[in-house]
Amino acid sequence: TGFDALGLQPALRRAVADAGYTTPSEVQARSIPLALAGGDLRVCAGTGSGKTAAFVLPALQRILLAREADGRRERKQAEGPRVLVLAPTRELAIQVAQAASSYGRHVPGLRVATVVGGVPYGAQLAAFRQSLDLLVATPGRLLDHLGSGAARLGRVGMLVLDEADRMLDMGFIDDITAIAEALPAERQTVMVSATFAGEPGRLAQRLLRDPQCVDV
Ligand code: AMP
Repeated sequence: TGFDALGLQPALRRAVADAGYTTPSEVQARSIPLALAGGDLRVCAGTGSGKTAAFVLPALQRILLAREADGRRERKQAEGPRVLVLAPTRELAIQVAQAASSYGRHVPGLRVATVVGGVPYGAQLAAFRQSLDLLVATPGRLLDHLGSGAARLGRVGMLVLDEADRMLDMGFIDDITAIAEALPAERQTVMVSATFAGEPGRLAQRLLRDPQCVDV
């Protein structure tokens, strides 16, 4: 298929084929190879563009390759996520997590969790006590869990800000900044926004290092 040349592992190409996709959308064709190369990325795209798969597939590849590098090393304690996705609303966070589980269906034992507002804290604490690969969160609730010491983010190697313009419209700038500061500095950051004029552009300047830009 048109996905074969993007550099994705067979397990991910199979999931894409299962979904019935034959051709990558423009944002996917341009973002996936850049994201797989590991650098920071500024993606100007809105809903309906296929932006979710454009960052979820590279995120899953990172998880897959890191696992292989770990080999059969025995886990002594619960390990935090390798990938953190921040999204503006609980609905979007749940959609992204569903997409990750679906595109990750051939990744053995993939562990995806969501941490969003409007859900009792107790159930979310249980998610942090288990090992995790990918966490999708809304900024306010994740910051609460960081403050209490429950959220362990020391293993995050990739941060994605989805619909960053909406998160900023909702007043999440301080929460996003605090979360980013709690993450390892050595990481890949991908910022997706329908616009980079004004505040999103300023946030991109603060968070992204020598980003590649994809505009669709
Ligand atoms: P998004 O812009 O990420 O919200 O995706 C919009 C919709 O397009 C979702 O329902 C996806 O399942 C679908 N989609 C994403 N990528 C493709 C593709 N390459 N071919 C066909 N449909 C796709």
